Amino acid sequence: MKGIEGGCHCGAVRYRLDRAPEASMVCHCRSCQRVTGAPIAAWVSAEKARFHLIRGEPKRYASSPDVERTFCGGCGTQLTYAQRGAPDEIDVATASLDEPGAFPPTHHSWLEDNIGWVRFGDGLPEFRKSRFGS
Ligand SMILES: [Zn+2]
Ligand SMILES: [Zn+2]
Repeated sequence: MKGIEGGCHCGAVRYRLDRAPEASMVCHCRSCQRVTGAPIAAWVSAEKARFHLIRGEPKRYASSPDVERTFCGGCGTQLTYAQRGAPDEIDVATASLDEPGAFPPTHHSWLEDNIGWVRFGDGLPEFRKSRFGS
C-alpha cells in the first residue's frame, strides 16, 4: 500500500499515513483560527504510530500547555495537532493531505468559538465543545 501522503505548501515537509484515518472533523475553535489564520480548520485523526515524516522536519508550537502543533517553518502550513493526554493519537490537517476530499468530516466541533458569519449547512452534527463534551 502506497499510503496516504500529504505535506506543506512549499514541499519542504512531507508525511505519510500508512492506514486510513479513524476520524475526520471540522474545528471551529479559537486556537485553530489563530494558528491557521483561517475561520475553520479540518482534521483527520490517526494512530500516532501510523504517521511518518518522510521529508523535512516541521517546527513545533505549544498552542496550549498540553497541545503541540507542528507546521512548516518555511511556508507556515499547519500539519499536525497532538495532545499530551492522548500520546497514541495525532490529528493531521485535512487540507494538507494530497487528496483532502478522501476523508469527509463527520461533525463540527467547538461551535462556541464559531465566527458568526461562518455558515456550513452540511447537516452534520455540531458540538459546542469537542464531541466528547470537554
Ligand atoms: Zn513548507
Ligand atoms: Zn481547533
